[in-house]
Amino acid sequence: MPEFFKLYGTESRCSAALERARWPDGFRCPRCSGGAHCVLRGGTHKVFQCNACRHQTSLIAGTVFQGTKLELTLWFLAIYLISQAKTGLSALALKRHLGVSYPTAWLIHHKLMQAMAQREARYVLEGQVQVDDAYLGGERSGGKVGRGSENKVPFVAAVSLSDDGHPLRIKLTPVEGFTLKSIALWAKAHLAPGSTVYSDGLACFSAVTDVGCVHRPTVVAGRKPKDMPEFQWINTVLGNLKTSLTGSYHAFGFQKFAPRYLAAFTYRFNRRFDLATLHQRLIVAAVRCGPQPQRSIRLAEGHC
Ligand SMILES: [Zn+2]
Repeated sequence: MPEFFKLYGTESRCSAALERARWPDGFRCPRCSGGAHCVLRGGTHKVFQCNACRHQTSLIAGTVFQGTKLELTLWFLAIYLISQAKTGLSALALKRHLGVSYPTAWLIHHKLMQAMAQREARYVLEGQVQVDDAYLGGERSGGKVGRGSENKVPFVAAVSLSDDGHPLRIKLTPVEGFTLKSIALWAKAHLAPGSTVYSDGLACFSAVTDVGCVHRPTVVAGRKPKDMPEFQWINTVLGNLKTSLTGSYHAFGFQKFAPRYLAAFTYRFNRRFDLATLHQRLIVAAVRCGPQPQRSIRLAEGHC
């Protein structure tokens, strides 16, 4: 924390860090790609004017920070807290730490989770991949329990493994249901052709063969993946996920925003060996993510 404040404790330091993250090799005009520019000052943020086409770009325009009235130091502190919190951070905790209103904390949280989701969307799983059907959220009293339960968000949990059986990357993707059609769509978006997919034999997973993957179902009567050593990593990931989301399960709109919560968990898991530099990576993700108007942040995302 002291180290963080030394680096990002003032508005001008945050501004300089943002500029480095956005243009590591120096300013490039977003319209004509020209490098020659002059800097206009006077407003809240630096404005770059391209010498070639005269286009003006504010430091925060075109990033997740576009349109913000908040100080950058506040955003950077949020980035730090979110990236360092081991089991995730709720908007309520963020509100307390930042001293802002709940709606403001919620928006900061969701915009940064969206930046993580977009970053994560660039990757597909390859090689040996374990998959399982999973559900998020609690059932209301009187609802059905287990697969097909009401008020639950079905999602595919997938882990890619190294040759010696260690987890490399995960993907947690909400799907409309566990049908051949939705798993075929999921596989197309998230698996590299040629991957070998291990499942517990749920029929829909055979659809991965549609996209050139090999399906290896393990069918053992009466056993669920949680009892099978073959599915150790899936179970570990799902256990960690449950701990991480405990405080959010009952939050308003949780189901609607489940894809974003899952992507944020995934983002952190897939970078678990880079915790010390995670905030720097998240700054880059925020800069690359593009503007996220409140309207679109509050809209639910579609399925895969
Ligand atoms: Zn230009």
